[in-house]
Amino acid sequence: MNTSNGSDQGVVFRKNLGHYTVRTEERDIVCELSTRLRKQLIYPTADPSSLRHRVRQIREIEHVDPVAIGDAVLFTDAGCNSGMITEILPRRNKFSRPATTTGQRVFEQVIVSNIDQVVPVFAAASPTPKWHLLDRYLVSAEASELPSLICITKVDLLTDRREIDEVVESYQRIGYRVLCVSSLTGEGLNEIKQTLRGKISVLVGKSGVGKTSLLNAIQPGLGLRVKEVSHGNQGKGLHTTTHLEMFSLNGEGAIVDTPGIREFGLWDSCNDSLDQFFPEMRPLIGKCKFGLDCSHDNEPGCAIRKAVVNGEISPYRYESYLKLRVSP
Ligand code: ZN
Repeated sequence: MNTSNGSDQGVVFRKNLGHYTVRTEERDIVCELSTRLRKQLIYPTADPSSLRHRVRQIREIEHVDPVAIGDAVLFTDAGCNSGMITEILPRRNKFSRPATTTGQRVFEQVIVSNIDQVVPVFAAASPTPKWHLLDRYLVSAEASELPSLICITKVDLLTDRREIDEVVESYQRIGYRVLCVSSLTGEGLNEIKQTLRGKISVLVGKSGVGKTSLLNAIQPGLGLRVKEVSHGNQGKGLHTTTHLEMFSLNGEGAIVDTPGIREFGLWDSCNDSLDQFFPEMRPLIGKCKFGLDCSHDNEPGCAIRKAVVNGEISPYRYESYLKLRVSP
C-alpha cells in the first residue's frame, strides 16, 4: 500500500538479526531500521543531559528490539526488495516479556503485536501437563487483554478421558474456550482450523507438546517450517530471541510460535492487581474484610479464600495465584 508521504506500508512477518521482512499485498521486502527511528526509540526515557546514560542505552537497545512481529510499519523502498523501516504504526495490542540486560535493567520486549488470540498448547499426556504453567499463560493473556483458546493435544494417548474432562470443564466454567485435539485421529482438527481462520494467533507452550504435528495437520508442511525457526533459537539464552516469524495460514490469518518463552505479560503487572487476571476472582475483588488491600493470602475475612473453601474457586487455580504472587 502506498501512503501519501511516499512510504509504503506493510506488516513485519519475520525478524532475524536486525533484519525485518515486511510483507505487503504484493511482496516481501527485507528492511533495516532507520537511524532516526532507532534514536527516537532509544532516547525517550533518557535524561538528555546525561551523555553516559545515552551511551549506555544505545548498547542496551541491541538486546531490546523496538520492532515486533505483527507491527504495521511504514518503510521506504530502496529497490532490489530491500528497504528501511521509518515508522511503527500504533499497536492495537501487544504481547511482551521482560528483557534483562547485563546491567540488570529490565526493559519491555514486545514479542508480537496486533494479535487476536493467545493459544496455550498443552499435551494431555507425554509430557504430563503442568496446569500451573497454563495459568501463567492465561494470566499473561489477561494482563494483555487478549482472549485465550486452550488447546490440549495428544488426547489419543489417554485411556481414561475423565481426568482431562475434569480439567476441560474447570477452565470452561470460568469462561475459557478449550479444544481437545489429536493429530492422529483427527479429533478437534476442524474446530481448531475454524478458530484460527482469519485471525492472528500466538502459540505458547513448551516443545514436545505436539505443536509440529498439530500445525502439519492444520496445513501440510507448516509444522516443519515453524520447527526450523524454533530450533534456530535454541542455545541463544533466556532473554534473546534472534529469529521470530509469523506464518500465514493459507492467506487466512497467521500464527506465531514462541518457543521457550514463559514470562509473558507480567513484566509490568504488580502483585496488587494479579487477582484481576483471574476471571473467577474478579466478582469478589473488594469484598474482603480488608477490601482492596487484601492479598488473599493470610488475611482474615478474605472473600477469595472463602470461595476456595466453598468450592466456588478451584484450589488449584488459587494455588497458581499464590505462586504467581510470589514470583510473577
Ligand atoms: Zn482477600
